[in-house]
Amino acid sequence: MEISYQRIYSRLFKYYGPQKWWPADTSFEMMIGAILVQNTSWHNAEKALANIKPYLAPELMEKLATGEMAEMIRPSGFFNVKAKRINAFLKWFKTYHCDIGVIKQIDRQRLRNELLNINGVGRETADVMLLYAFDKPIFVVDNYARRIFYRIGFNMPKTYDAFRNEVEGTMAGDLELFNEFHALLVEHAKSHCKKTPICEGCPLLEMCHQRLD
Ligand code: SF4
Repeated sequence: MEISYQRIYSRLFKYYGPQKWWPADTSFEMMIGAILVQNTSWHNAEKALANIKPYLAPELMEKLATGEMAEMIRPSGFFNVKAKRINAFLKWFKTYHCDIGVIKQIDRQRLRNELLNINGVGRETADVMLLYAFDKPIFVVDNYARRIFYRIGFNMPKTYDAFRNEVEGTMAGDLELFNEFHALLVEHAKSHCKKTPICEGCPLLEMCHQRLD
């Protein structure tokens, strides 16, 4: 059977259904969540988000002292570093008067470069922001995607952008597809393709080589 990214996507979508990500009330909350979840679980990021919820608007957040913000986001770990990263992000966001609509008009590559220039925003963080806040179709490469594709049998490129280009180059993807694909891969890595995989009942079982790490 020929395995393709499209086939993987279709199987996961059929099995798990639409995920409708990102779990946030506003695009601003989404972007702050993307910084808070760096190097930690979503569970910890959520605790930090709950603490900082009353300040989840740019005009309120910028009034917080860095130390105060760091205390609130403590559950996300690396909280001093993340508070500085959030401030760096806010500084950039303000250059567009915090206007998501205006930022969405920017070309994907130019916007990606701008995000990558913000201190503490790496490729994965930039790409989830592009996808879930700024409506840019892009494939997000994370450890879950790496793990699942490897186990299925793909020899994916090692570098982030080569991996991303490989998937994007063979999928006729629109925004909705990439939005769902990332969320579905995360769900699959949590439900079946865990560190120790639960292959029984896995929707990808018949196409998977089950290579273990
Ligand atoms: S069959 Fe097993 S290793 Fe392959 S994708 Fe499913 S859970 Fe992961």
